[in-house]
Amino acid sequence: MANPSILILAGDGIGPEVMAEVKKIIGWFGDKRGIGFDVEDDLVGGSAYDVHGTPLTDATMAKAQAADAVLLGAVGGPKYDVLDFSVKPERGLLRLRKEMDLFSNLRPAQCFDALADFSSLKKEVVAGLDIMIVRELTSGVYFGEPRGIFPDNEGGRVGVNTQRYTTEEIRRVARSAFELARRRGNKVCSMEKANVMESGILWREEVQWVHDNEYPDVELSHMYADAGAMQLVRWPKQFDVIVTDNLFGDLLSDCAAMLTGSLGMLPSASLGAPTATGRPKALYEPVHGSAPDIAGQGKANPIACILSFAMALRYSFDLGEEATRVERAVEAVLADGARTADLMGPEGGVPVSTAEMGDLIVKALDASL
Ligand code: NAD
Repeated sequence: MANPSILILAGDGIGPEVMAEVKKIIGWFGDKRGIGFDVEDDLVGGSAYDVHGTPLTDATMAKAQAADAVLLGAVGGPKYDVLDFSVKPERGLLRLRKEMDLFSNLRPAQCFDALADFSSLKKEVVAGLDIMIVRELTSGVYFGEPRGIFPDNEGGRVGVNTQRYTTEEIRRVARSAFELARRRGNKVCSMEKANVMESGILWREEVQWVHDNEYPDVELSHMYADAGAMQLVRWPKQFDVIVTDNLFGDLLSDCAAMLTGSLGMLPSASLGAPTATGRPKALYEPVHGSAPDIAGQGKANPIACILSFAMALRYSFDLGEEATRVERAVEAVLADGARTADLMGPEGGVPVSTAEMGDLIVKALDASL
């Protein structure tokens, strides 16, 4: 059988630096576990613009559609700020998400014990935290029509955005949350504002419908999104999987992410519908951007990107145990005290470089055999 295929789009700034460390891990799986991947590199964002005059060519888009998984580093940088909106680096990423129809955005908030002091919350509130926020990514108020800024009747202006969800849009993201919950703690909490929004009432009813008809074995609760935000910082460990719409998910996932400390630690996955292979369309990327302030200096933390690859192992390649192996290797390296510059506490110390962190994680993988 052919190896599964991975398209790597390292992008701009620290993207190529952190992706180089992911490639070490991919190589390790081929050498030490007999798990091979067919890896192809291509350009996205500013680096694609520099060569092709567009942040994503049609040929690259076609490769992304055909790949079993896409791994993306980061896009953007000050050099490209002056470009027209239509060719800005971010347009490449948005095109990928849109044309692959990646409606389910998975944002884990996992706190490694060694970094619990890093959180703005008390250690006992975050140590061992492991929750997953599933955000609907392709509909809702960011896309609903009508939208725009219009003149009103009193000589002023009115800004309009429309929150709009269909039954099927809600059901498909709910299914993705229930599927995830079955592989984790078997609990889903759905968040909306059914008290003040009709779209919230529909959201609640449809999530309940999917539960009752397809996933009655999973524990389901509902919460208003504002109460959910409070509960997330009060006692986040009460949650397993949270499913919510595009707008609330944007806010709640950033809030949950910060429970765990550094941007350099946060992976994400965006999944679409299953393809003929049974694998979902999938894009994996760290949450952070291209970090132009530290690019090219060997200071970037590669862990967010490495954990994004671990998510690919779990959600695209059904290699959950191997994903856990990578996560444990990261945990072991942190427990040993290795820190990139972004993880240095006030007590100081000597940070390891991007490449050293990658090497240490490979060593920890060796030790896991
Ligand atoms: P950023 O995430 O790039 O950086 C924010 C801060 O976090 C910086 O101080 C940076 O040094 C630090 N940081 C980020 N990732 C790190 C890592 N792995 N290790 C250590 N430190 C890390 O956000 P920004 O500065 O607002 O944006 C910079 C550029 O990235 C902009 O052009 C923006 O449009 C783009 N961006 C891209 C994405 C993406 O590709 N998905 C996401 C956000 C921002």
